[in-house]
Amino acid sequence: MSESREVIRKTNLYSAHNYAPKEVVIEKAQGVMVYDAEGKAYYDMLSAYSALNFGHLHPEIVDAAKEQLEKVTLTSRAFHNTVLCDFCERLCRLTGKELTLPMNTGAEAVETALKTARRWGSFVKGVPDGKQEIIVCKNNFHGRTITIVTMSTDNSARDGFAPFTPGFVKVEYGNAAALEAAITENTVAFLAEPIQGEAGVIVPPDGYIKSVREICTRHKVLFIADEVQTGFARTGKMFACMHEDVEPDIYVLGKALGGGVMPVSAVTADKDILGVYEPGSHGSTFGGNPLSCAVALKAMEILVRDNYPEQAREKGRCFIDKLRTVKNPHIVDIRGKGLLIGVEFDTDAAPYVKKLIHNGVLAKETHERTIRFAPPIIVTYEQLDDVAERIRRSFE
Ligand SMILES: *Cc1c(COP(=O)(O)O)cnc(C)c1O
Repeated sequence: MSESREVIRKTNLYSAHNYAPKEVVIEKAQGVMVYDAEGKAYYDMLSAYSALNFGHLHPEIVDAAKEQLEKVTLTSRAFHNTVLCDFCERLCRLTGKELTLPMNTGAEAVETALKTARRWGSFVKGVPDGKQEIIVCKNNFHGRTITIVTMSTDNSARDGFAPFTPGFVKVEYGNAAALEAAITENTVAFLAEPIQGEAGVIVPPDGYIKSVREICTRHKVLFIADEVQTGFARTGKMFACMHEDVEPDIYVLGKALGGGVMPVSAVTADKDILGVYEPGSHGSTFGGNPLSCAVALKAMEILVRDNYPEQAREKGRCFIDKLRTVKNPHIVDIRGKGLLIGVEFDTDAAPYVKKLIHNGVLAKETHERTIRFAPPIIVTYEQLDDVAERIRRSFE
């Protein structure tokens, strides 16, 4: 109908074309469901790349936001506010770390972790300032700043954005020996996603994260886990490193931390690492603002109270079993952990995405051949059954 078409026309006219959105115009949403401008209902199986673990408009999170909206939303860090302390305390407890540094977007948290590692390398490890090296993985996704796309191996993310930032070394993901071989006396950190999300839900071999931990400890190199997408129960543990009982030195967090309402990100680590900052050395105008903190605090409370990790684990197991009964000769792999699941085809997956959307299931292909299914963790078993049938109809 014309209303959605008009929205798409106007969006294409006035917004830069750095995205190619699917032809769905969302007007409102509740829980797992979203509704387009014509009132058609869809299951949200993307969850804004895991930012909507609590579903859309979770009533308690919305109430926490409303309550804070009547008090104060923004103070800047020039002054204290009454909510930041509780936010930091709760996130420290959840991650088992001593300090939290709040930011807004995932990319800012990644940048914060990189700056932290470089400073730690210079101040604590004794690497000459300017010589610090950070090892990253091929096919990673850590965000979109110039330094972050420096670490990327995806040409579409890099083309035309040079000159890049020095000090990064890229190794094969899932290969612990490659990491160890790349370490020099100037290496300060290794940055990786415990499961590569944007690369197509790439689950590394069993034992990889444990080996990474052991190698980093042995060489006095910080292990930075980018859990922006995998964190907060998505993969069936509170953090994906916990599948191998590993504690990284630095957690990079974002997406779901904002409860689907605000952009909230953070880095957490112990004092010997995050203690490298003194006043004036890093910051953000909106980082740690009371509205974001109020929302994130409520989100973390719900996550623990309602045992989201177990919910994601059980629902994920049930859903992946159903997906494995879908018959399509072009499906070459179905993988994932918890409610982060990738279905890989041996052909372009876009036509299947189109069928899914036609059948009321919102999903998107990543790197052409893999469709990611990552519903809000509040999804019910009945809803998953219905989604699985719609997927069957779309794929068979
Ligand atoms: C989404 C994502 C980011 C970047 O987060 P933004 O909020 O988009 O800046 C960083 N790392 C990972 C693993 C992500 O999935």
